[in-house]
Amino acid sequence: MKICINGYRGRMGQTIAETAIEAGHEITGKIDIGDDLTAALEQSDVVIDFSFHTVTRSVFETAAKLGKPIVCGTTGHTQEEKTALLEIAKAVPTVWAGNFSIGVNLLCYLTEKAAAILPISYNAEITEMHHRLKKDAPSGTALMLAESVLGPRGLNYDDIQHGREGVPGERGEREVGMHSLRGGDVVGDHTILFADIGERIELTHKASSRAIFSRGAVRAAEWTIGKEPGIYSIRDVLGLA
Ligand code: NAD
Repeated sequence: MKICINGYRGRMGQTIAETAIEAGHEITGKIDIGDDLTAALEQSDVVIDFSFHTVTRSVFETAAKLGKPIVCGTTGHTQEEKTALLEIAKAVPTVWAGNFSIGVNLLCYLTEKAAAILPISYNAEITEMHHRLKKDAPSGTALMLAESVLGPRGLNYDDIQHGREGVPGERGEREVGMHSLRGGDVVGDHTILFADIGERIELTHKASSRAIFSRGAVRAAEWTIGKEPGIYSIRDVLGLA
């Protein structure tokens, strides 16, 4: 497969290139700031975008115009950006995920089950930690975990409580707490806990290598070939849907 990587010089871009080459693919687009995406994508079968949230729109528009499948791992999009992107992305096969690792997608699945089984009196709180260079917060993965609680509990985005300070008062039952830690070279740690009187349950995933994301992204790129246009999740690719 001929793969165009957008965000090529970044941490993920470099890891994806290594994984793709090991898997026998060719990198026909090594695109970063200032490079010509259209020319590179014309020569490629698929684009993999791990760059910056404001960049994704032009990547999606170019891929849709050329009829090329998209794999997008970029995080940090605003709600307005997401809405516009979903409209553009449905023109081609698109796999879009806040986290491409099998372990995290299993964690989200288990979180959905826990949120459905446990009464809402089991307060849900999410913590995430990443390296000091990460630009967006909370992480895309932490938002995936939050969505895994919101759905089964009939909650919505307004119920996510981003940090606490001052005198926020007693914790409401509908709240889903969200806390971001930053420091060092942490690839990505995520914990969801459910706390009630007398006990708490914690589910944790720790990433120690970016290869877990790049393997998922390359697998998703292979999977998109020949698929109908539409937006797919990594769960479709992994058979967890
Ligand atoms: P990074 O800062 O190391 O790399 C981003 C790259 O994008 C940089 O090389 C930057 O120059 C490039 N870029 C910026 N503007 C561009 C433009 N206009 N055109 C082309 N390239 C441009 O960041 P990273 O750690 O590699 O992460 C990239 C993104 O992927 C972030 O949003 C991060 O949260 C996300 N991420 C997702 C997953 C996942 O599994 N979905 C995993 C890890 C990281």
